[in-house]
Amino acid sequence: MIPAVIISKKRDRLELTPEEIRFMVQGFANGTVPDYQMSALAMAIYIQGMTEIEKQTLTREMIQSGDVLPRVSDRPRVDKHSTGGLGDKTSLILAPLLACFELDVPMISGRGLGITGGTLDKLEAIPGFRTNLEIDELGKQLKEIGCCITGATRNLVPADQKLYALRDVTGTVPSTPLITASIMSKKIAETLDALVLDVKWGSAAFKQTLPEAIELAESLVYTGKKFGVDTRAFLTDMTQPLGRMVGNANEVNESLEVLQGLGPSDTRELTIELAASLLVQVRHENSMESARRSLSEKIDRGFAWEKFQQMVAHQGGNISSPLPLAPDSVVHSRQTGFVWGVNGQLLGQAIIAMGGGRTVVGQRIDHGVGLEMLVRVGDPMEMNHPLVRIFARNDQQRETAARVVEQAIEIRLERPEPIPLYSEFVSTRSDASDE
Ligand code: URA
Repeated sequence: MIPAVIISKKRDRLELTPEEIRFMVQGFANGTVPDYQMSALAMAIYIQGMTEIEKQTLTREMIQSGDVLPRVSDRPRVDKHSTGGLGDKTSLILAPLLACFELDVPMISGRGLGITGGTLDKLEAIPGFRTNLEIDELGKQLKEIGCCITGATRNLVPADQKLYALRDVTGTVPSTPLITASIMSKKIAETLDALVLDVKWGSAAFKQTLPEAIELAESLVYTGKKFGVDTRAFLTDMTQPLGRMVGNANEVNESLEVLQGLGPSDTRELTIELAASLLVQVRHENSMESARRSLSEKIDRGFAWEKFQQMVAHQGGNISSPLPLAPDSVVHSRQTGFVWGVNGQLLGQAIIAMGGGRTVVGQRIDHGVGLEMLVRVGDPMEMNHPLVRIFARNDQQRETAARVVEQAIEIRLERPEPIPLYSEFVSTRSDASDE
């Protein structure tokens, strides 16, 4: 087969055969299809989309580019995955929290993607923390403490590990088939009993509108069901970042606060809601209400924080106090009124420009830079009210970020309607059955 012919076929909106998809995915994973041809195919998929069959084949081929996780205990195996949003640090809290319930949480996560931060980059802000566990190390850790957060490797969905990095720097992230195959290949390779998906919409996410997020949720849930995993999804608000902190080290610090029963209420509430769904899905709890109560108790009694520290220690890290951040300064409002909206794309770009995200594959990132949101949408605004705290390395970064922040926060005279933090996604498709 000839890669250029396959790329041209997709460019011209023709359906690829399973053999063609296999050829490109396996070739990319083993190095015979180079980055530039895979980038071109990703762009063609981004523009032309994929049929349902192509999408399922892409997911299957990504899974088959590596091994799947063997079972290591009788405990139910669960996980959650987010489609990506600014300030989303729920994974750092949710994995250790659920491991307090005799569940296994083998969370395979990603790095920063587009404007959004990545769980692995955040965790690597912790000195010594390893995100490249081999399958046997992962199994051992699961057996011992019930959770881990690690990345795709050369054995575990290697095709996603490579394609994810390529999409990050080639403008090919917000594509439903590519997001579906990326997320679901990792989750299906984990051999889960239950999965919950956090499908984000708004300016700080890849899907900017609710209808686009619904389409993505449908695709993810359908794929999960097709591969025999009990999959549910929530549609969650990303019209502004989650919590206060956006960056890497500062998001770890905020996660520590939530794990210790403090921190912003939206971050705690969303984490508990997603985790509660999983407890109900595996019948550990009979209702969302009782699941929320049990989860809150695990946080408030310090069990989740203890489990997080165990996880960090098992993965070679050490954390007992907040991580150091770059020097900070505050941007103030020059208008009065109400915070009407926050442009998450601009905020994400400001962080990348400060070195907190990547512009080329493999770039080292600066974990200490970032932003702290000092206002929420709907807040009344006076002149000189603090808007955002910037953590920057030098004056040039600080000044550029300040200009972007001023542009990103829209203040108007009227107060906007509040948007709910989450709602459960209900599928309208009835044709998904297990494969
Ligand atoms: N998370 C992933 O793992 N992949 C995507 O494409 C988006 C979010």
